[in-house]
Amino acid sequence: MTKPDTDLIIAGGGLAGATLALALARMVPSLRVTVVEAFPLSPDALPESYQPSYDARSTALAWGSRLIFEELGLWQRLAEHATPIEHIHVSDRGHFGATRLHAAEHGQAALGYVADNRWMGLCLMRELLDTNVQWRAPAEVTDMTPIPGGVRVQLSEEGEETAELTARCLVVADGGRSGLRERLGFRPDRHSYGQNALIANVSTSDSHGFTAFERFTDAGPMALLPHGSPTRAGHQSALVWTLSDEVLQQVLALPDDEKCRWLQDRFGWRLGRFTRIGTCHHYPLTLTTVDEPVRPGVALVGNAAHALHPVAGQGFNLALRGLMTLVEQFRLAEEQGRSIGDIEVLKRYQALHREDWQQTVRFSDSLVRLFGHSMLPVAAARDAGLVGLDLLPGAKRWFARKAMGLGGRRAMIERPGNLNREAPANE
Ligand SMILES: Cc1cc2nc3c(=O)[nH]c(=O)nc-3n(C[C@H](O)[C@H](O)[C@H](O)COP(=O)(O)OP(=O)(O)OC[C@H]3O[C@@H](n4cnc5c(N)ncnc54)[C@H](O)[C@@H]3O)c2cc1C
Repeated sequence: MTKPDTDLIIAGGGLAGATLALALARMVPSLRVTVVEAFPLSPDALPESYQPSYDARSTALAWGSRLIFEELGLWQRLAEHATPIEHIHVSDRGHFGATRLHAAEHGQAALGYVADNRWMGLCLMRELLDTNVQWRAPAEVTDMTPIPGGVRVQLSEEGEETAELTARCLVVADGGRSGLRERLGFRPDRHSYGQNALIANVSTSDSHGFTAFERFTDAGPMALLPHGSPTRAGHQSALVWTLSDEVLQQVLALPDDEKCRWLQDRFGWRLGRFTRIGTCHHYPLTLTTVDEPVRPGVALVGNAAHALHPVAGQGFNLALRGLMTLVEQFRLAEEQGRSIGDIEVLKRYQALHREDWQQTVRFSDSLVRLFGHSMLPVAAARDAGLVGLDLLPGAKRWFARKAMGLGGRRAMIERPGNLNREAPANE
């Protein structure tokens, strides 16, 4: 191929695609990167209308993700509106089991942080303004053809096939809903949980005390994440509640004061009285994984590669670790004079990230299955498990490391400069 139009095309400028673009601008500045995004995003504005990544959700960022954002020079800005999680409380409604994690026990300021997706989008866009990353938006990647030394990518703008771009490599970060992955021949494994995540901001009469609550209820698992000022423990939490289709419709039909009562009955009084519930949004939940997320000249990242149940707040944290593994392989390829679309380069990314995504999927999925069960023996085993976690320091440390996103250790350690960057684990 003569000189391609760009070195790398990223299909999708959501959380995964935009973070990848920023990481490449910082760590492999020799690469020319073009982001193609279906929504009218630009580095200096986010649309007011719904955008699949930068919407009303909040994301629980693990401690490990903070370390990555620090490395990208993004953390200082992000931290302005990121609420620390100093404690995690896991409990089961109507049963005695509970476990508690405290940041101080792990020698850290926080176990993780909660940031609004919209705020993360604004921070990413502002940082990208000062880079040489190119944006095409609104535009969609509709197809790709392999060509010698790279790929030819078809774009469509306002529904019209408009342009072709050549590149050494295409990274698919479209979230998996646009069908691009399937059009390129990837075969995802899909399992529908038959459940939805209902999200809303809620106010409570007691302060959250920087505690994230995971509670397993007869209606489904719920998370209440501390939200609001990063310095003053306030009275607002972000609710993520997993509900069946039927129960979701029942809850949505209730007036707000009854929604609060419903919530109160199932969550209890650890946060005092629920005084307000904001606008509710909901998302159908599936587990989607792609066993082989690479082809010559193409790699999948983020939700396009693996979309998880949000109960353990792991999806984006896992994506972030995968992105950094890919960036490191691109950096090495550049250093060694190899093409970034070379299948050996991409297979190395696949091999290094594999154990992490498989373990994280197992961790999230087993929580859903274990805590989705109301059968007595399973409930008893689960409660024994929660008590056991609380009493056994080894088990609790394992759980805490998962929650803090300190999996994927091999991938992290292989990155230069990261040797001493893991949180002290007191092991
Ligand atoms: C309710 C809920 C709560 C969650 N909470 C957490 C949490 O607490 N912690 C955590 O770590 N994770 C959490 N997650 C997971 C997290 O939100 C996802 O991992 C993350 O949004 C994935 O981002 P993405 O960029 O891969 O995909 P998306 O967010 O779907 O973004 C894809 C982007 O690609 C664009 N696009 C689509 N098709 C094309 C195309 N053909 N061409 C160009 N552009 C295209 C879209 O417009 C969009 O901007 C949660 C998920 C849900 C549903």
